[in-house]
Amino acid sequence: MNNSKYKERAVYLDNAATTRMSDEVKAAMEPYLKENFGNASTIYGYGETAKEALRNARETIAETLEAKPSEIFFTSGGSESDNWAVKCIAGEYKHKGTHIITSKIEHHAILNSCAYLEQLGYEVTYLDVDEYGLVSPEAVFNAIRDDTTLITIMFGNNEIGTIEPILPIGRIAREKGVLFHTDAVQAYAQIPISVHCYPVDLLSASAHKFHGPKGTGFLYIREGVKIPSFIHGGAQESGKRAGTENIPGIVGMAKAAEIAARGMRRRIQRETMLRNYLLEKVTHEISGVRINGHRTRRLPGNANFSIRGVDGASLLILLDEDGICVSGGSACNTGESRISYVIRELKVPEEYAAGTIRMTLSGDTTRADIDAAVASLKQNVARLRDEPCTPG
Ligand SMILES: *Cc1c(COP(=O)(O)O)cnc(C)c1O
Repeated sequence: MNNSKYKERAVYLDNAATTRMSDEVKAAMEPYLKENFGNASTIYGYGETAKEALRNARETIAETLEAKPSEIFFTSGGSESDNWAVKCIAGEYKHKGTHIITSKIEHHAILNSCAYLEQLGYEVTYLDVDEYGLVSPEAVFNAIRDDTTLITIMFGNNEIGTIEPILPIGRIAREKGVLFHTDAVQAYAQIPISVHCYPVDLLSASAHKFHGPKGTGFLYIREGVKIPSFIHGGAQESGKRAGTENIPGIVGMAKAAEIAARGMRRRIQRETMLRNYLLEKVTHEISGVRINGHRTRRLPGNANFSIRGVDGASLLILLDEDGICVSGGSACNTGESRISYVIRELKVPEEYAAGTIRMTLSGDTTRADIDAAVASLKQNVARLRDEPCTPG
């Protein structure tokens, strides 16, 4: 991957942060950036072309989930979809109750939406996770009260890759008559998800996490679920989400979803193999490494580990100097603790937690990328460990 900041080809291992748009996606979008610039709400030819592109995209996305096209609502991305689901379901069912259940390791789009609702007088139960980052379905069951209106548990975690028990949690929610939302931003287009098999009522996804464009996503809303608009205005998206549709973005997302669905089985096998190769290599070649997250219930491309006695932030800078792009224990919140809230919830020992590294693969990742990343990691860990602490 070329970027003007890097002298040579960079090794990009941060696909959970965002992905490179594929050439096929870019090509699919191009006609809609200029020639087919129409607004889907107009009645002449340009509008017709846009409307048709929108219809096709909705069908493509619906098919990947075994959903109905009328259950797919385009948004500006994962954050909007999460905000819409949480805030608007809470608002719609306020008469029934004001209690929401979520987990302590959700993405900030969920956690901060919940915090906002708490300010408005809602009550939120934040469930603990076990040492692998798993939410217990039994804990969900026990947390449900008469006034619970929504359960929101992520499909796959963005930091540690743990895949949550969505099936049993969904069954419990359905049995108890509570709506169930899942933030599937990391899982959609990475592993097979069917709303036919999984009892979820709402599901969020975002295009830039699967080689589509940034600023485009969708919310799946099961037929019959009552949810008001989050963005008010025109009658787009069946009157549920106002705003002139981002046709190039939506076309690009549908193309990316189609490509992902097409090669999914093979990609999962390949990515899992490379990911395991990476984890094995890291644990063999570097001392004091702990793998975070679940060994098998894990997104194919996710590797997350903690290295004893090194500072993760310093390590990231050294890796970047070698052209290796990875993440630490989530984006650093300056001034706050260096240890991510997800890693903290796993109760990773302090001497390891500060040295947490996330490497996330994609279909473009090669064995050579992994070899280069581990070689740099090994060298720089040694460097950091040998260096005396800077005084003061
Ligand atoms: C990236 C991400 C989001 C936010 O999606 P955007 O499209 O970047 O707004 C939400 N949830 C999870 C789990 C994510 O990984």
